[in-house]
Amino acid sequence: MTHAPSAPVAPSALELDGLVRHFAVRGGTVRAVDGVSLAVARGEVLGLVGESGSGKSTVGQCAVRLDRPTEGTVRVDGTDITRLSRRALRPLRRGFHLVFQDPSASLDPRMTVERIVAEPLRLHRLAHGEELQGRVSELLRLVGLRPESARRRPHELSGGQRQRVSLARALSVEPRLLVADEPTSALDVSVQAAVLNLFSDLQRDRGFGCLFITHDLSAVEFVADRIAVMYLGEIVEQAPTADLFASPRHPYTAALLSAVPVPDPAVERSRRRVVLQGDPPSPLAPPAGCRFHERCPAAVDRCRVEPPALRTLPGPVPRQVACHRVDEDGTPPQL
Ligand code: SF4
Repeated sequence: MTHAPSAPVAPSALELDGLVRHFAVRGGTVRAVDGVSLAVARGEVLGLVGESGSGKSTVGQCAVRLDRPTEGTVRVDGTDITRLSRRALRPLRRGFHLVFQDPSASLDPRMTVERIVAEPLRLHRLAHGEELQGRVSELLRLVGLRPESARRRPHELSGGQRQRVSLARALSVEPRLLVADEPTSALDVSVQAAVLNLFSDLQRDRGFGCLFITHDLSAVEFVADRIAVMYLGEIVEQAPTADLFASPRHPYTAALLSAVPVPDPAVERSRRRVVLQGDPPSPLAPPAGCRFHERCPAAVDRCRVEPPALRTLPGPVPRQVACHRVDEDGTPPQL
């Protein structure tokens, strides 16, 4: 019996395999990222969460090759970009973009909004003349900016408007992958929701894959399909968003989620908070064994000597966890 050839599997928008980024500093080595593997499917939003210093922004910088990994592989849309030269990367940059936390720092203050949004289209020779103007107007409309914004400079705009300009610029070349590093953290709370809504709508309409990096769990719950949790340079848990929020398995994830306020006061009053002891240790000298053991309320002797591997849990929902005390069937430890 012959089998029909199976359909080719589309490459992921982003694939990181064993990503390591160490920085040599006086007095040692900062192990910012230590063996991170993850994939973002086309059209998927993967949230990458963790406290500041967990290494999540360094992962983002390596993913778009604004930083060069010490070890490991970065593939964007199936192409290995890990060690490409700047020149070789240039034509590929159209396919991936980074949206920064602070749009003021990433937008040239001397340029008008029109020039900022048009620049990638010009650089990649995708449009010129009237067509270019038309594309810029369309992009500004798409991100909810008035046509007169085109003549303004970044300092004449509000924070929310500047982030809209960043999004218009990023989307101008129709990337397959967007890495958004805390894209709403620098905005007033009142405009965060509007920008998140816009981001979510654009992502759905345009279908780009996205690595959404944030410490804001409410934001990531709103936009992400799946979530990866980082602690001190490593991924400790990965799961679909709804499953992670409904039943976190790793004690660190449980602690992070227990700090997120719930809008219902009755539910909020009845919840138990998992309070972590102390601050995260320095990535200059991560603890032996499980890196979380000094702060973990469930730690046992084994945790102090043996690093837990990230393992896939059984069941229909694809989830991974790195904890000795999560049972084979996925039952987490009591906290
Ligand atoms: Fe806590 Fe041990 Fe699990 Fe680490 S391996 S999270 S220290 S219980």
